[in-house]
Amino acid sequence: MQIPKQVLVTDVVARDGFQNEDRIVSTQDKLRVIEGLVRAGVTSIEVTSFVHPGVVPQLADAADVVAQLPRHPGVIYSALVPNIKGARRALDAGVTELHLVVSASESHNRANLNRSVRESLAQLAEVCSYVYRANPQIVLIASISTAFHCPFEGRTPLERVLWIVEELVGMGIRQVNLADTDGAANPLQTWQTLTAVKERFPEITWSLHLHNTRDMGLANALAGLQAGITQFDASLGGIGGCPFVPGATGNISIEDLVHMLHEMGIETGIDLDVLLAEGLKLRAIIGHELASQVARAGTSGNLHAFEEIRVADSRSIHQVETTR
Ligand code: ZN
Repeated sequence: MQIPKQVLVTDVVARDGFQNEDRIVSTQDKLRVIEGLVRAGVTSIEVTSFVHPGVVPQLADAADVVAQLPRHPGVIYSALVPNIKGARRALDAGVTELHLVVSASESHNRANLNRSVRESLAQLAEVCSYVYRANPQIVLIASISTAFHCPFEGRTPLERVLWIVEELVGMGIRQVNLADTDGAANPLQTWQTLTAVKERFPEITWSLHLHNTRDMGLANALAGLQAGITQFDASLGGIGGCPFVPGATGNISIEDLVHMLHEMGIETGIDLDVLLAEGLKLRAIIGHELASQVARAGTSGNLHAFEEIRVADSRSIHQVETTR
């Protein structure tokens, strides 16, 4: 199996995760979670979204979060910007990596951004020229939602993705993130899509944003790895979703992704034990269970004392027999 030796994992819990929580997480708690991720060795963190506070009140403190971020050399903080107003606010706040967003499908773009895909692309072109003029050092990453499947329209044709990427390249974009927004992509489709887009646009740096809505998230990550993808989004505890996808659940959990990568001998620079401990703190902050399997089961290396299990087993067999 052909797989990369090293992978960059971007944690998106502070944006994708917290925007989907019913209760508003305080600015200080958000900063605690971000600091915890940095402590675990995560070097790429999406910290918020400069969306209109009326639309997503959970992230109304975007500028406050950015202003108080712990400064660490080698750690990159990014933020999502939905339009030029958001881009202005993000640059004013000092963000150096911006995530732009457009959906591949018309219906999801309409639900998420309230305009057609063409209108969104025209807006993105405006944002790009504004940002590049303001500061050519700013990194712009375009994220294509519903790149594999749309909850309203079904499977996304590959041609549709290729067309949008073509438009983005014309705006000067060099990094593209493909999102399986409703967690409906399968591993074969993921591999085929990534192989095709990489072949058509070899100059682009690709990343994957996978949701685990139908438990295909890690399988899709593996398909991405096999297609040569070395950058993945994931969220602490696997929380998150999309407010405009009925029944959406969270991103692939960063604990589970890092665990799988490490078990395969792929480096991430992340300390999984610290990450798991930070996940427990997150659980206390949000007040509900995490979606991470490894958080529940422990790592594969976490072995149990054989004798204890055997005794417990025989006792339960005994109980079954005597209570029959
Ligand atoms: Zn997401």
